[in-house]
Amino acid sequence: MNHHTRILVLAFGAGLAALAARGAQAEIIELTNGHVLQGKVLDGKTTDAGLALQLFDTDGVVVVKWDHIVESQRRDLRLEHGIDLPEETVEVVHGHRFQLTTGQIVEGFASNPRELDKDLHLKTVTGWKDYPRASIAGKVEDADIDGLLVYTPEELYQQLRDANPPDTPAAHKALAQKCMNIGAYDHAKQHLEACKADDAFMQTAEGKAVEQMLRNAEIMIKAKDAQDMKQQVVIAGHDNRWNDAAKIVKDIGDKYKDDVIRKAIGYDLLVARTTKGRDMYFQRAVALDVFKRMDELITEKAREKLVPPDPSAPKSTAGAGTLAAARNWANKDLMKALWDKVSKDTGLTDAEELKKYWEGRTVRSARKAGYGTGSFIVVKKQATAPKTGGTQEPPKRRPPGQSSGEKNSKSGKSNVPEKPKAADKPMTDEEWWESVNPSDRARWLTAYVAETCGYFEILRTDQMPCQGCGGLGYIKSTASNGDEEQHFCVQCNGIGVVKTVTYR
Ligand SMILES: [Zn+2]
Repeated sequence: MNHHTRILVLAFGAGLAALAARGAQAEIIELTNGHVLQGKVLDGKTTDAGLALQLFDTDGVVVVKWDHIVESQRRDLRLEHGIDLPEETVEVVHGHRFQLTTGQIVEGFASNPRELDKDLHLKTVTGWKDYPRASIAGKVEDADIDGLLVYTPEELYQQLRDANPPDTPAAHKALAQKCMNIGAYDHAKQHLEACKADDAFMQTAEGKAVEQMLRNAEIMIKAKDAQDMKQQVVIAGHDNRWNDAAKIVKDIGDKYKDDVIRKAIGYDLLVARTTKGRDMYFQRAVALDVFKRMDELITEKAREKLVPPDPSAPKSTAGAGTLAAARNWANKDLMKALWDKVSKDTGLTDAEELKKYWEGRTVRSARKAGYGTGSFIVVKKQATAPKTGGTQEPPKRRPPGQSSGEKNSKSGKSNVPEKPKAADKPMTDEEWWESVNPSDRARWLTAYVAETCGYFEILRTDQMPCQGCGGLGYIKSTASNGDEEQHFCVQCNGIGVVKTVTYR
């Protein structure tokens, strides 16, 4: 153990020497496992996922997960490189924090946090609200929370005063400072005036700050609306109404140009917090909505019933309920319908902004969609022909217009495909579409859209051998006369593979 520690100390010492030699940009990163990395932080590549470090020894770039950096350093680095914003001075109160099953975090004061057979009764500044326990994911935690999320400034002021009634000028001044923090400027003024009554106190260094505080309080009394608006921004952010928050921030900026007011309400920090909070929210919300709405639209399309073609329609028009119509729709109409819905859901009306949030999406989980037994429609026929010189040719597609004979319905249910009758031919694309149920169609369309629409990142595509024929595309059997016969596989329709697309 001692030996281990000593080596680390030496390594750290060497690191300091290197740092001195290389100038101010260098960072020495201490890891929770005791190791040390030295390098230059790359701001462009540093994200909430980790710190991007260009190493001195190899010149390679590593992304160090924040969890792997010692806590004391992590906090400073996250602030320094813009991942976190500085803390604001808030007056915290005892309260509760929990997560809804939707993922949203809720804070407030619960009157019955442990009464699990009853709805959670929660007070926030907007009033009391009941949350069914089933809507809560995990435990209701005790937490110190921003008092202004639970109480109005007046209510919070009374709590602060009653908890610690001021009896000296210094105590009045301390309470006045708290009043400034919560926007109770009238009360701040009142307690600062109380300080002024004590001449001896006013001569001390602390007393001399009172006049300046009083001037600020008076400015803020006149600009009380700025503080109220700021509080609306904070509450809107907590409710994930980020478009509202951004709108109010803009209104504050238009209305209050005075630096003293801006400083008093922490305007610059408010702008930074709102921008960052809104970005983080929509980087997730847009992606979740895209996936949800896409699934809905595709499911609906996959349920469309086949309509007999309209004889008066132009020949090129694919009839409703056909694969051709579904593909047309996926190529031409789906994306517009999708983005319209997402824009409406999120309230993001600027197409550029929507695109920015989609491309910066933080939803990184991979989704998988398969063409299933319809893989033959998108996979080129090649590797499935028999490799050895059999005299029999692989089965051919039936020419268009010829009767389809018996349908190979419900293929794919069993690993042992039924042997097709001699007259059977592989299905056409449209026959397959007609033969499968809406969920198979929806899966096929999803894979098709994921692969072709250009909006998704394709992580991989796989072609697994068909379980019915082991990837051959045909099955051999012995006929009654003893000859060996070869039939196309009804499970994969002769293509031999099942194709899936993994995307995000
Ligand atoms: Zn097969």
